[in-house]
Amino acid sequence: MLITRLAMAAMTMGAVFFMVGSAGAQTGPLRTQDLGNGIYAIFGPGGNIGVSVGEDGVILIDDKFDRLSSYLVAAVAGITDKPIRFLINTHWHPDHTGANQALESIGTLIVAHDNVRRRLSSDQVQKIFNRTVPASPKAALPVITFDQQISFHVNGDEARVYHIPNAHTDGDSIIYFVKANVIHMGDLYFAGRYPFLDVDSGGGISGLVAGLDQALSTINDQTQVISGHGGVTTKEELQAYRDVTKAVYDRLREMIAAGHSLEEILEAKITASFDEKWGNGFQGLNDPVSFVRFAYTSLTGKAE
Ligand SMILES: [Zn+2]
Repeated sequence: MLITRLAMAAMTMGAVFFMVGSAGAQTGPLRTQDLGNGIYAIFGPGGNIGVSVGEDGVILIDDKFDRLSSYLVAAVAGITDKPIRFLINTHWHPDHTGANQALESIGTLIVAHDNVRRRLSSDQVQKIFNRTVPASPKAALPVITFDQQISFHVNGDEARVYHIPNAHTDGDSIIYFVKANVIHMGDLYFAGRYPFLDVDSGGGISGLVAGLDQALSTINDQTQVISGHGGVTTKEELQAYRDVTKAVYDRLREMIAAGHSLEEILEAKITASFDEKWGNGFQGLNDPVSFVRFAYTSLTGKAE
């Protein structure tokens, strides 16, 4: 009863950071955050999930790992009894597309950028992780693909899905719910850490900065920003992340233009003034050295 009253108060006030999901046992490691106006975020292992709930059913943005699919369905059932009609994959990575087949089996339509389907359809060699991700079965593939932009007109809102070229990967989308004023950034945004550029999948720092600028020009000071990894933040925090990314990008370009090698650039520690706040990323992905290394590769085409 208290929870219901609080939830209603939170919706009315547009308040943020209210937790729901008393059914913790069924949702395992997943927890749900109510962002108001029918939008939720689901956290846990893997990429953060966005949820739009309303009279027309459920839109999911990303779906974590296959092993968590029953928990995910339970987490959604803890919000609404409406069916999961659409799933948008922000990019092809397995921690964002793992439950595709499970969701397809309950009638969900999968939507993504053309390159997400292309990459899921064939074996993906990820030198960064020293692994090959095998092609996905047909049932796990997006059945609706687009090349630039697509909109969903459901639940009394408009969800605008924008493709961002060559940023985290070559198939990224960000999704802006116009009325609810919530944006899901996919893995363009590792909140509070440096970006991760998957250069094996067509990611790059130029495209990332352009994509962050596009997102920032789309949203406003009241927008709630769902990161791909990390929490839900304000526009101000996304702006700070963009500014750090741009500063490193500029220093890197200067050093490359001056003819410095990767070794020299790493020795110069161009991220040093930012590392205390931003440097605690995942080792090998977006720690300070990895960030600079992948950014360098994306700009030069060279791995060293
Ligand atoms: Zn990713």
